[in-house]
Amino acid sequence: MTAGTPADTAGIPPDAEGGYIDGNALAGPLAELFAVDLTAATSQCAHCSNTGPVARLHVYRQAPGLVARCQQCGQVMLRLVRAPETVWLDTSGITVLSIPVGAD
Ligand SMILES: [Zn+2]
Repeated sequence: MTAGTPADTAGIPPDAEGGYIDGNALAGPLAELFAVDLTAATSQCAHCSNTGPVARLHVYRQAPGLVARCQQCGQVMLRLVRAPETVWLDTSGITVLSIPVGAD
């Protein structure tokens, strides 16, 4: 993949105004990796401590892959790059990810 080449974003709607789309765009790529829907999870920003649903993050796809930024401070919280045989997932901008799994 070269710089500026969009990731596999088939099925993702066109960018909204502001150059980003909401975190629901992460649902497909993350569903490939996790058994639960992480867009329903609550994430805490490592930069400003803002807490909110992953689905509310601002997702930019102009970079190679998807870059999800905090809706409060704009810092990068999550990056996901998909290649044919590997997925790179960087969550270093998330302090805590609270994932609802239901009761046993
Ligand atoms: Zn933040």
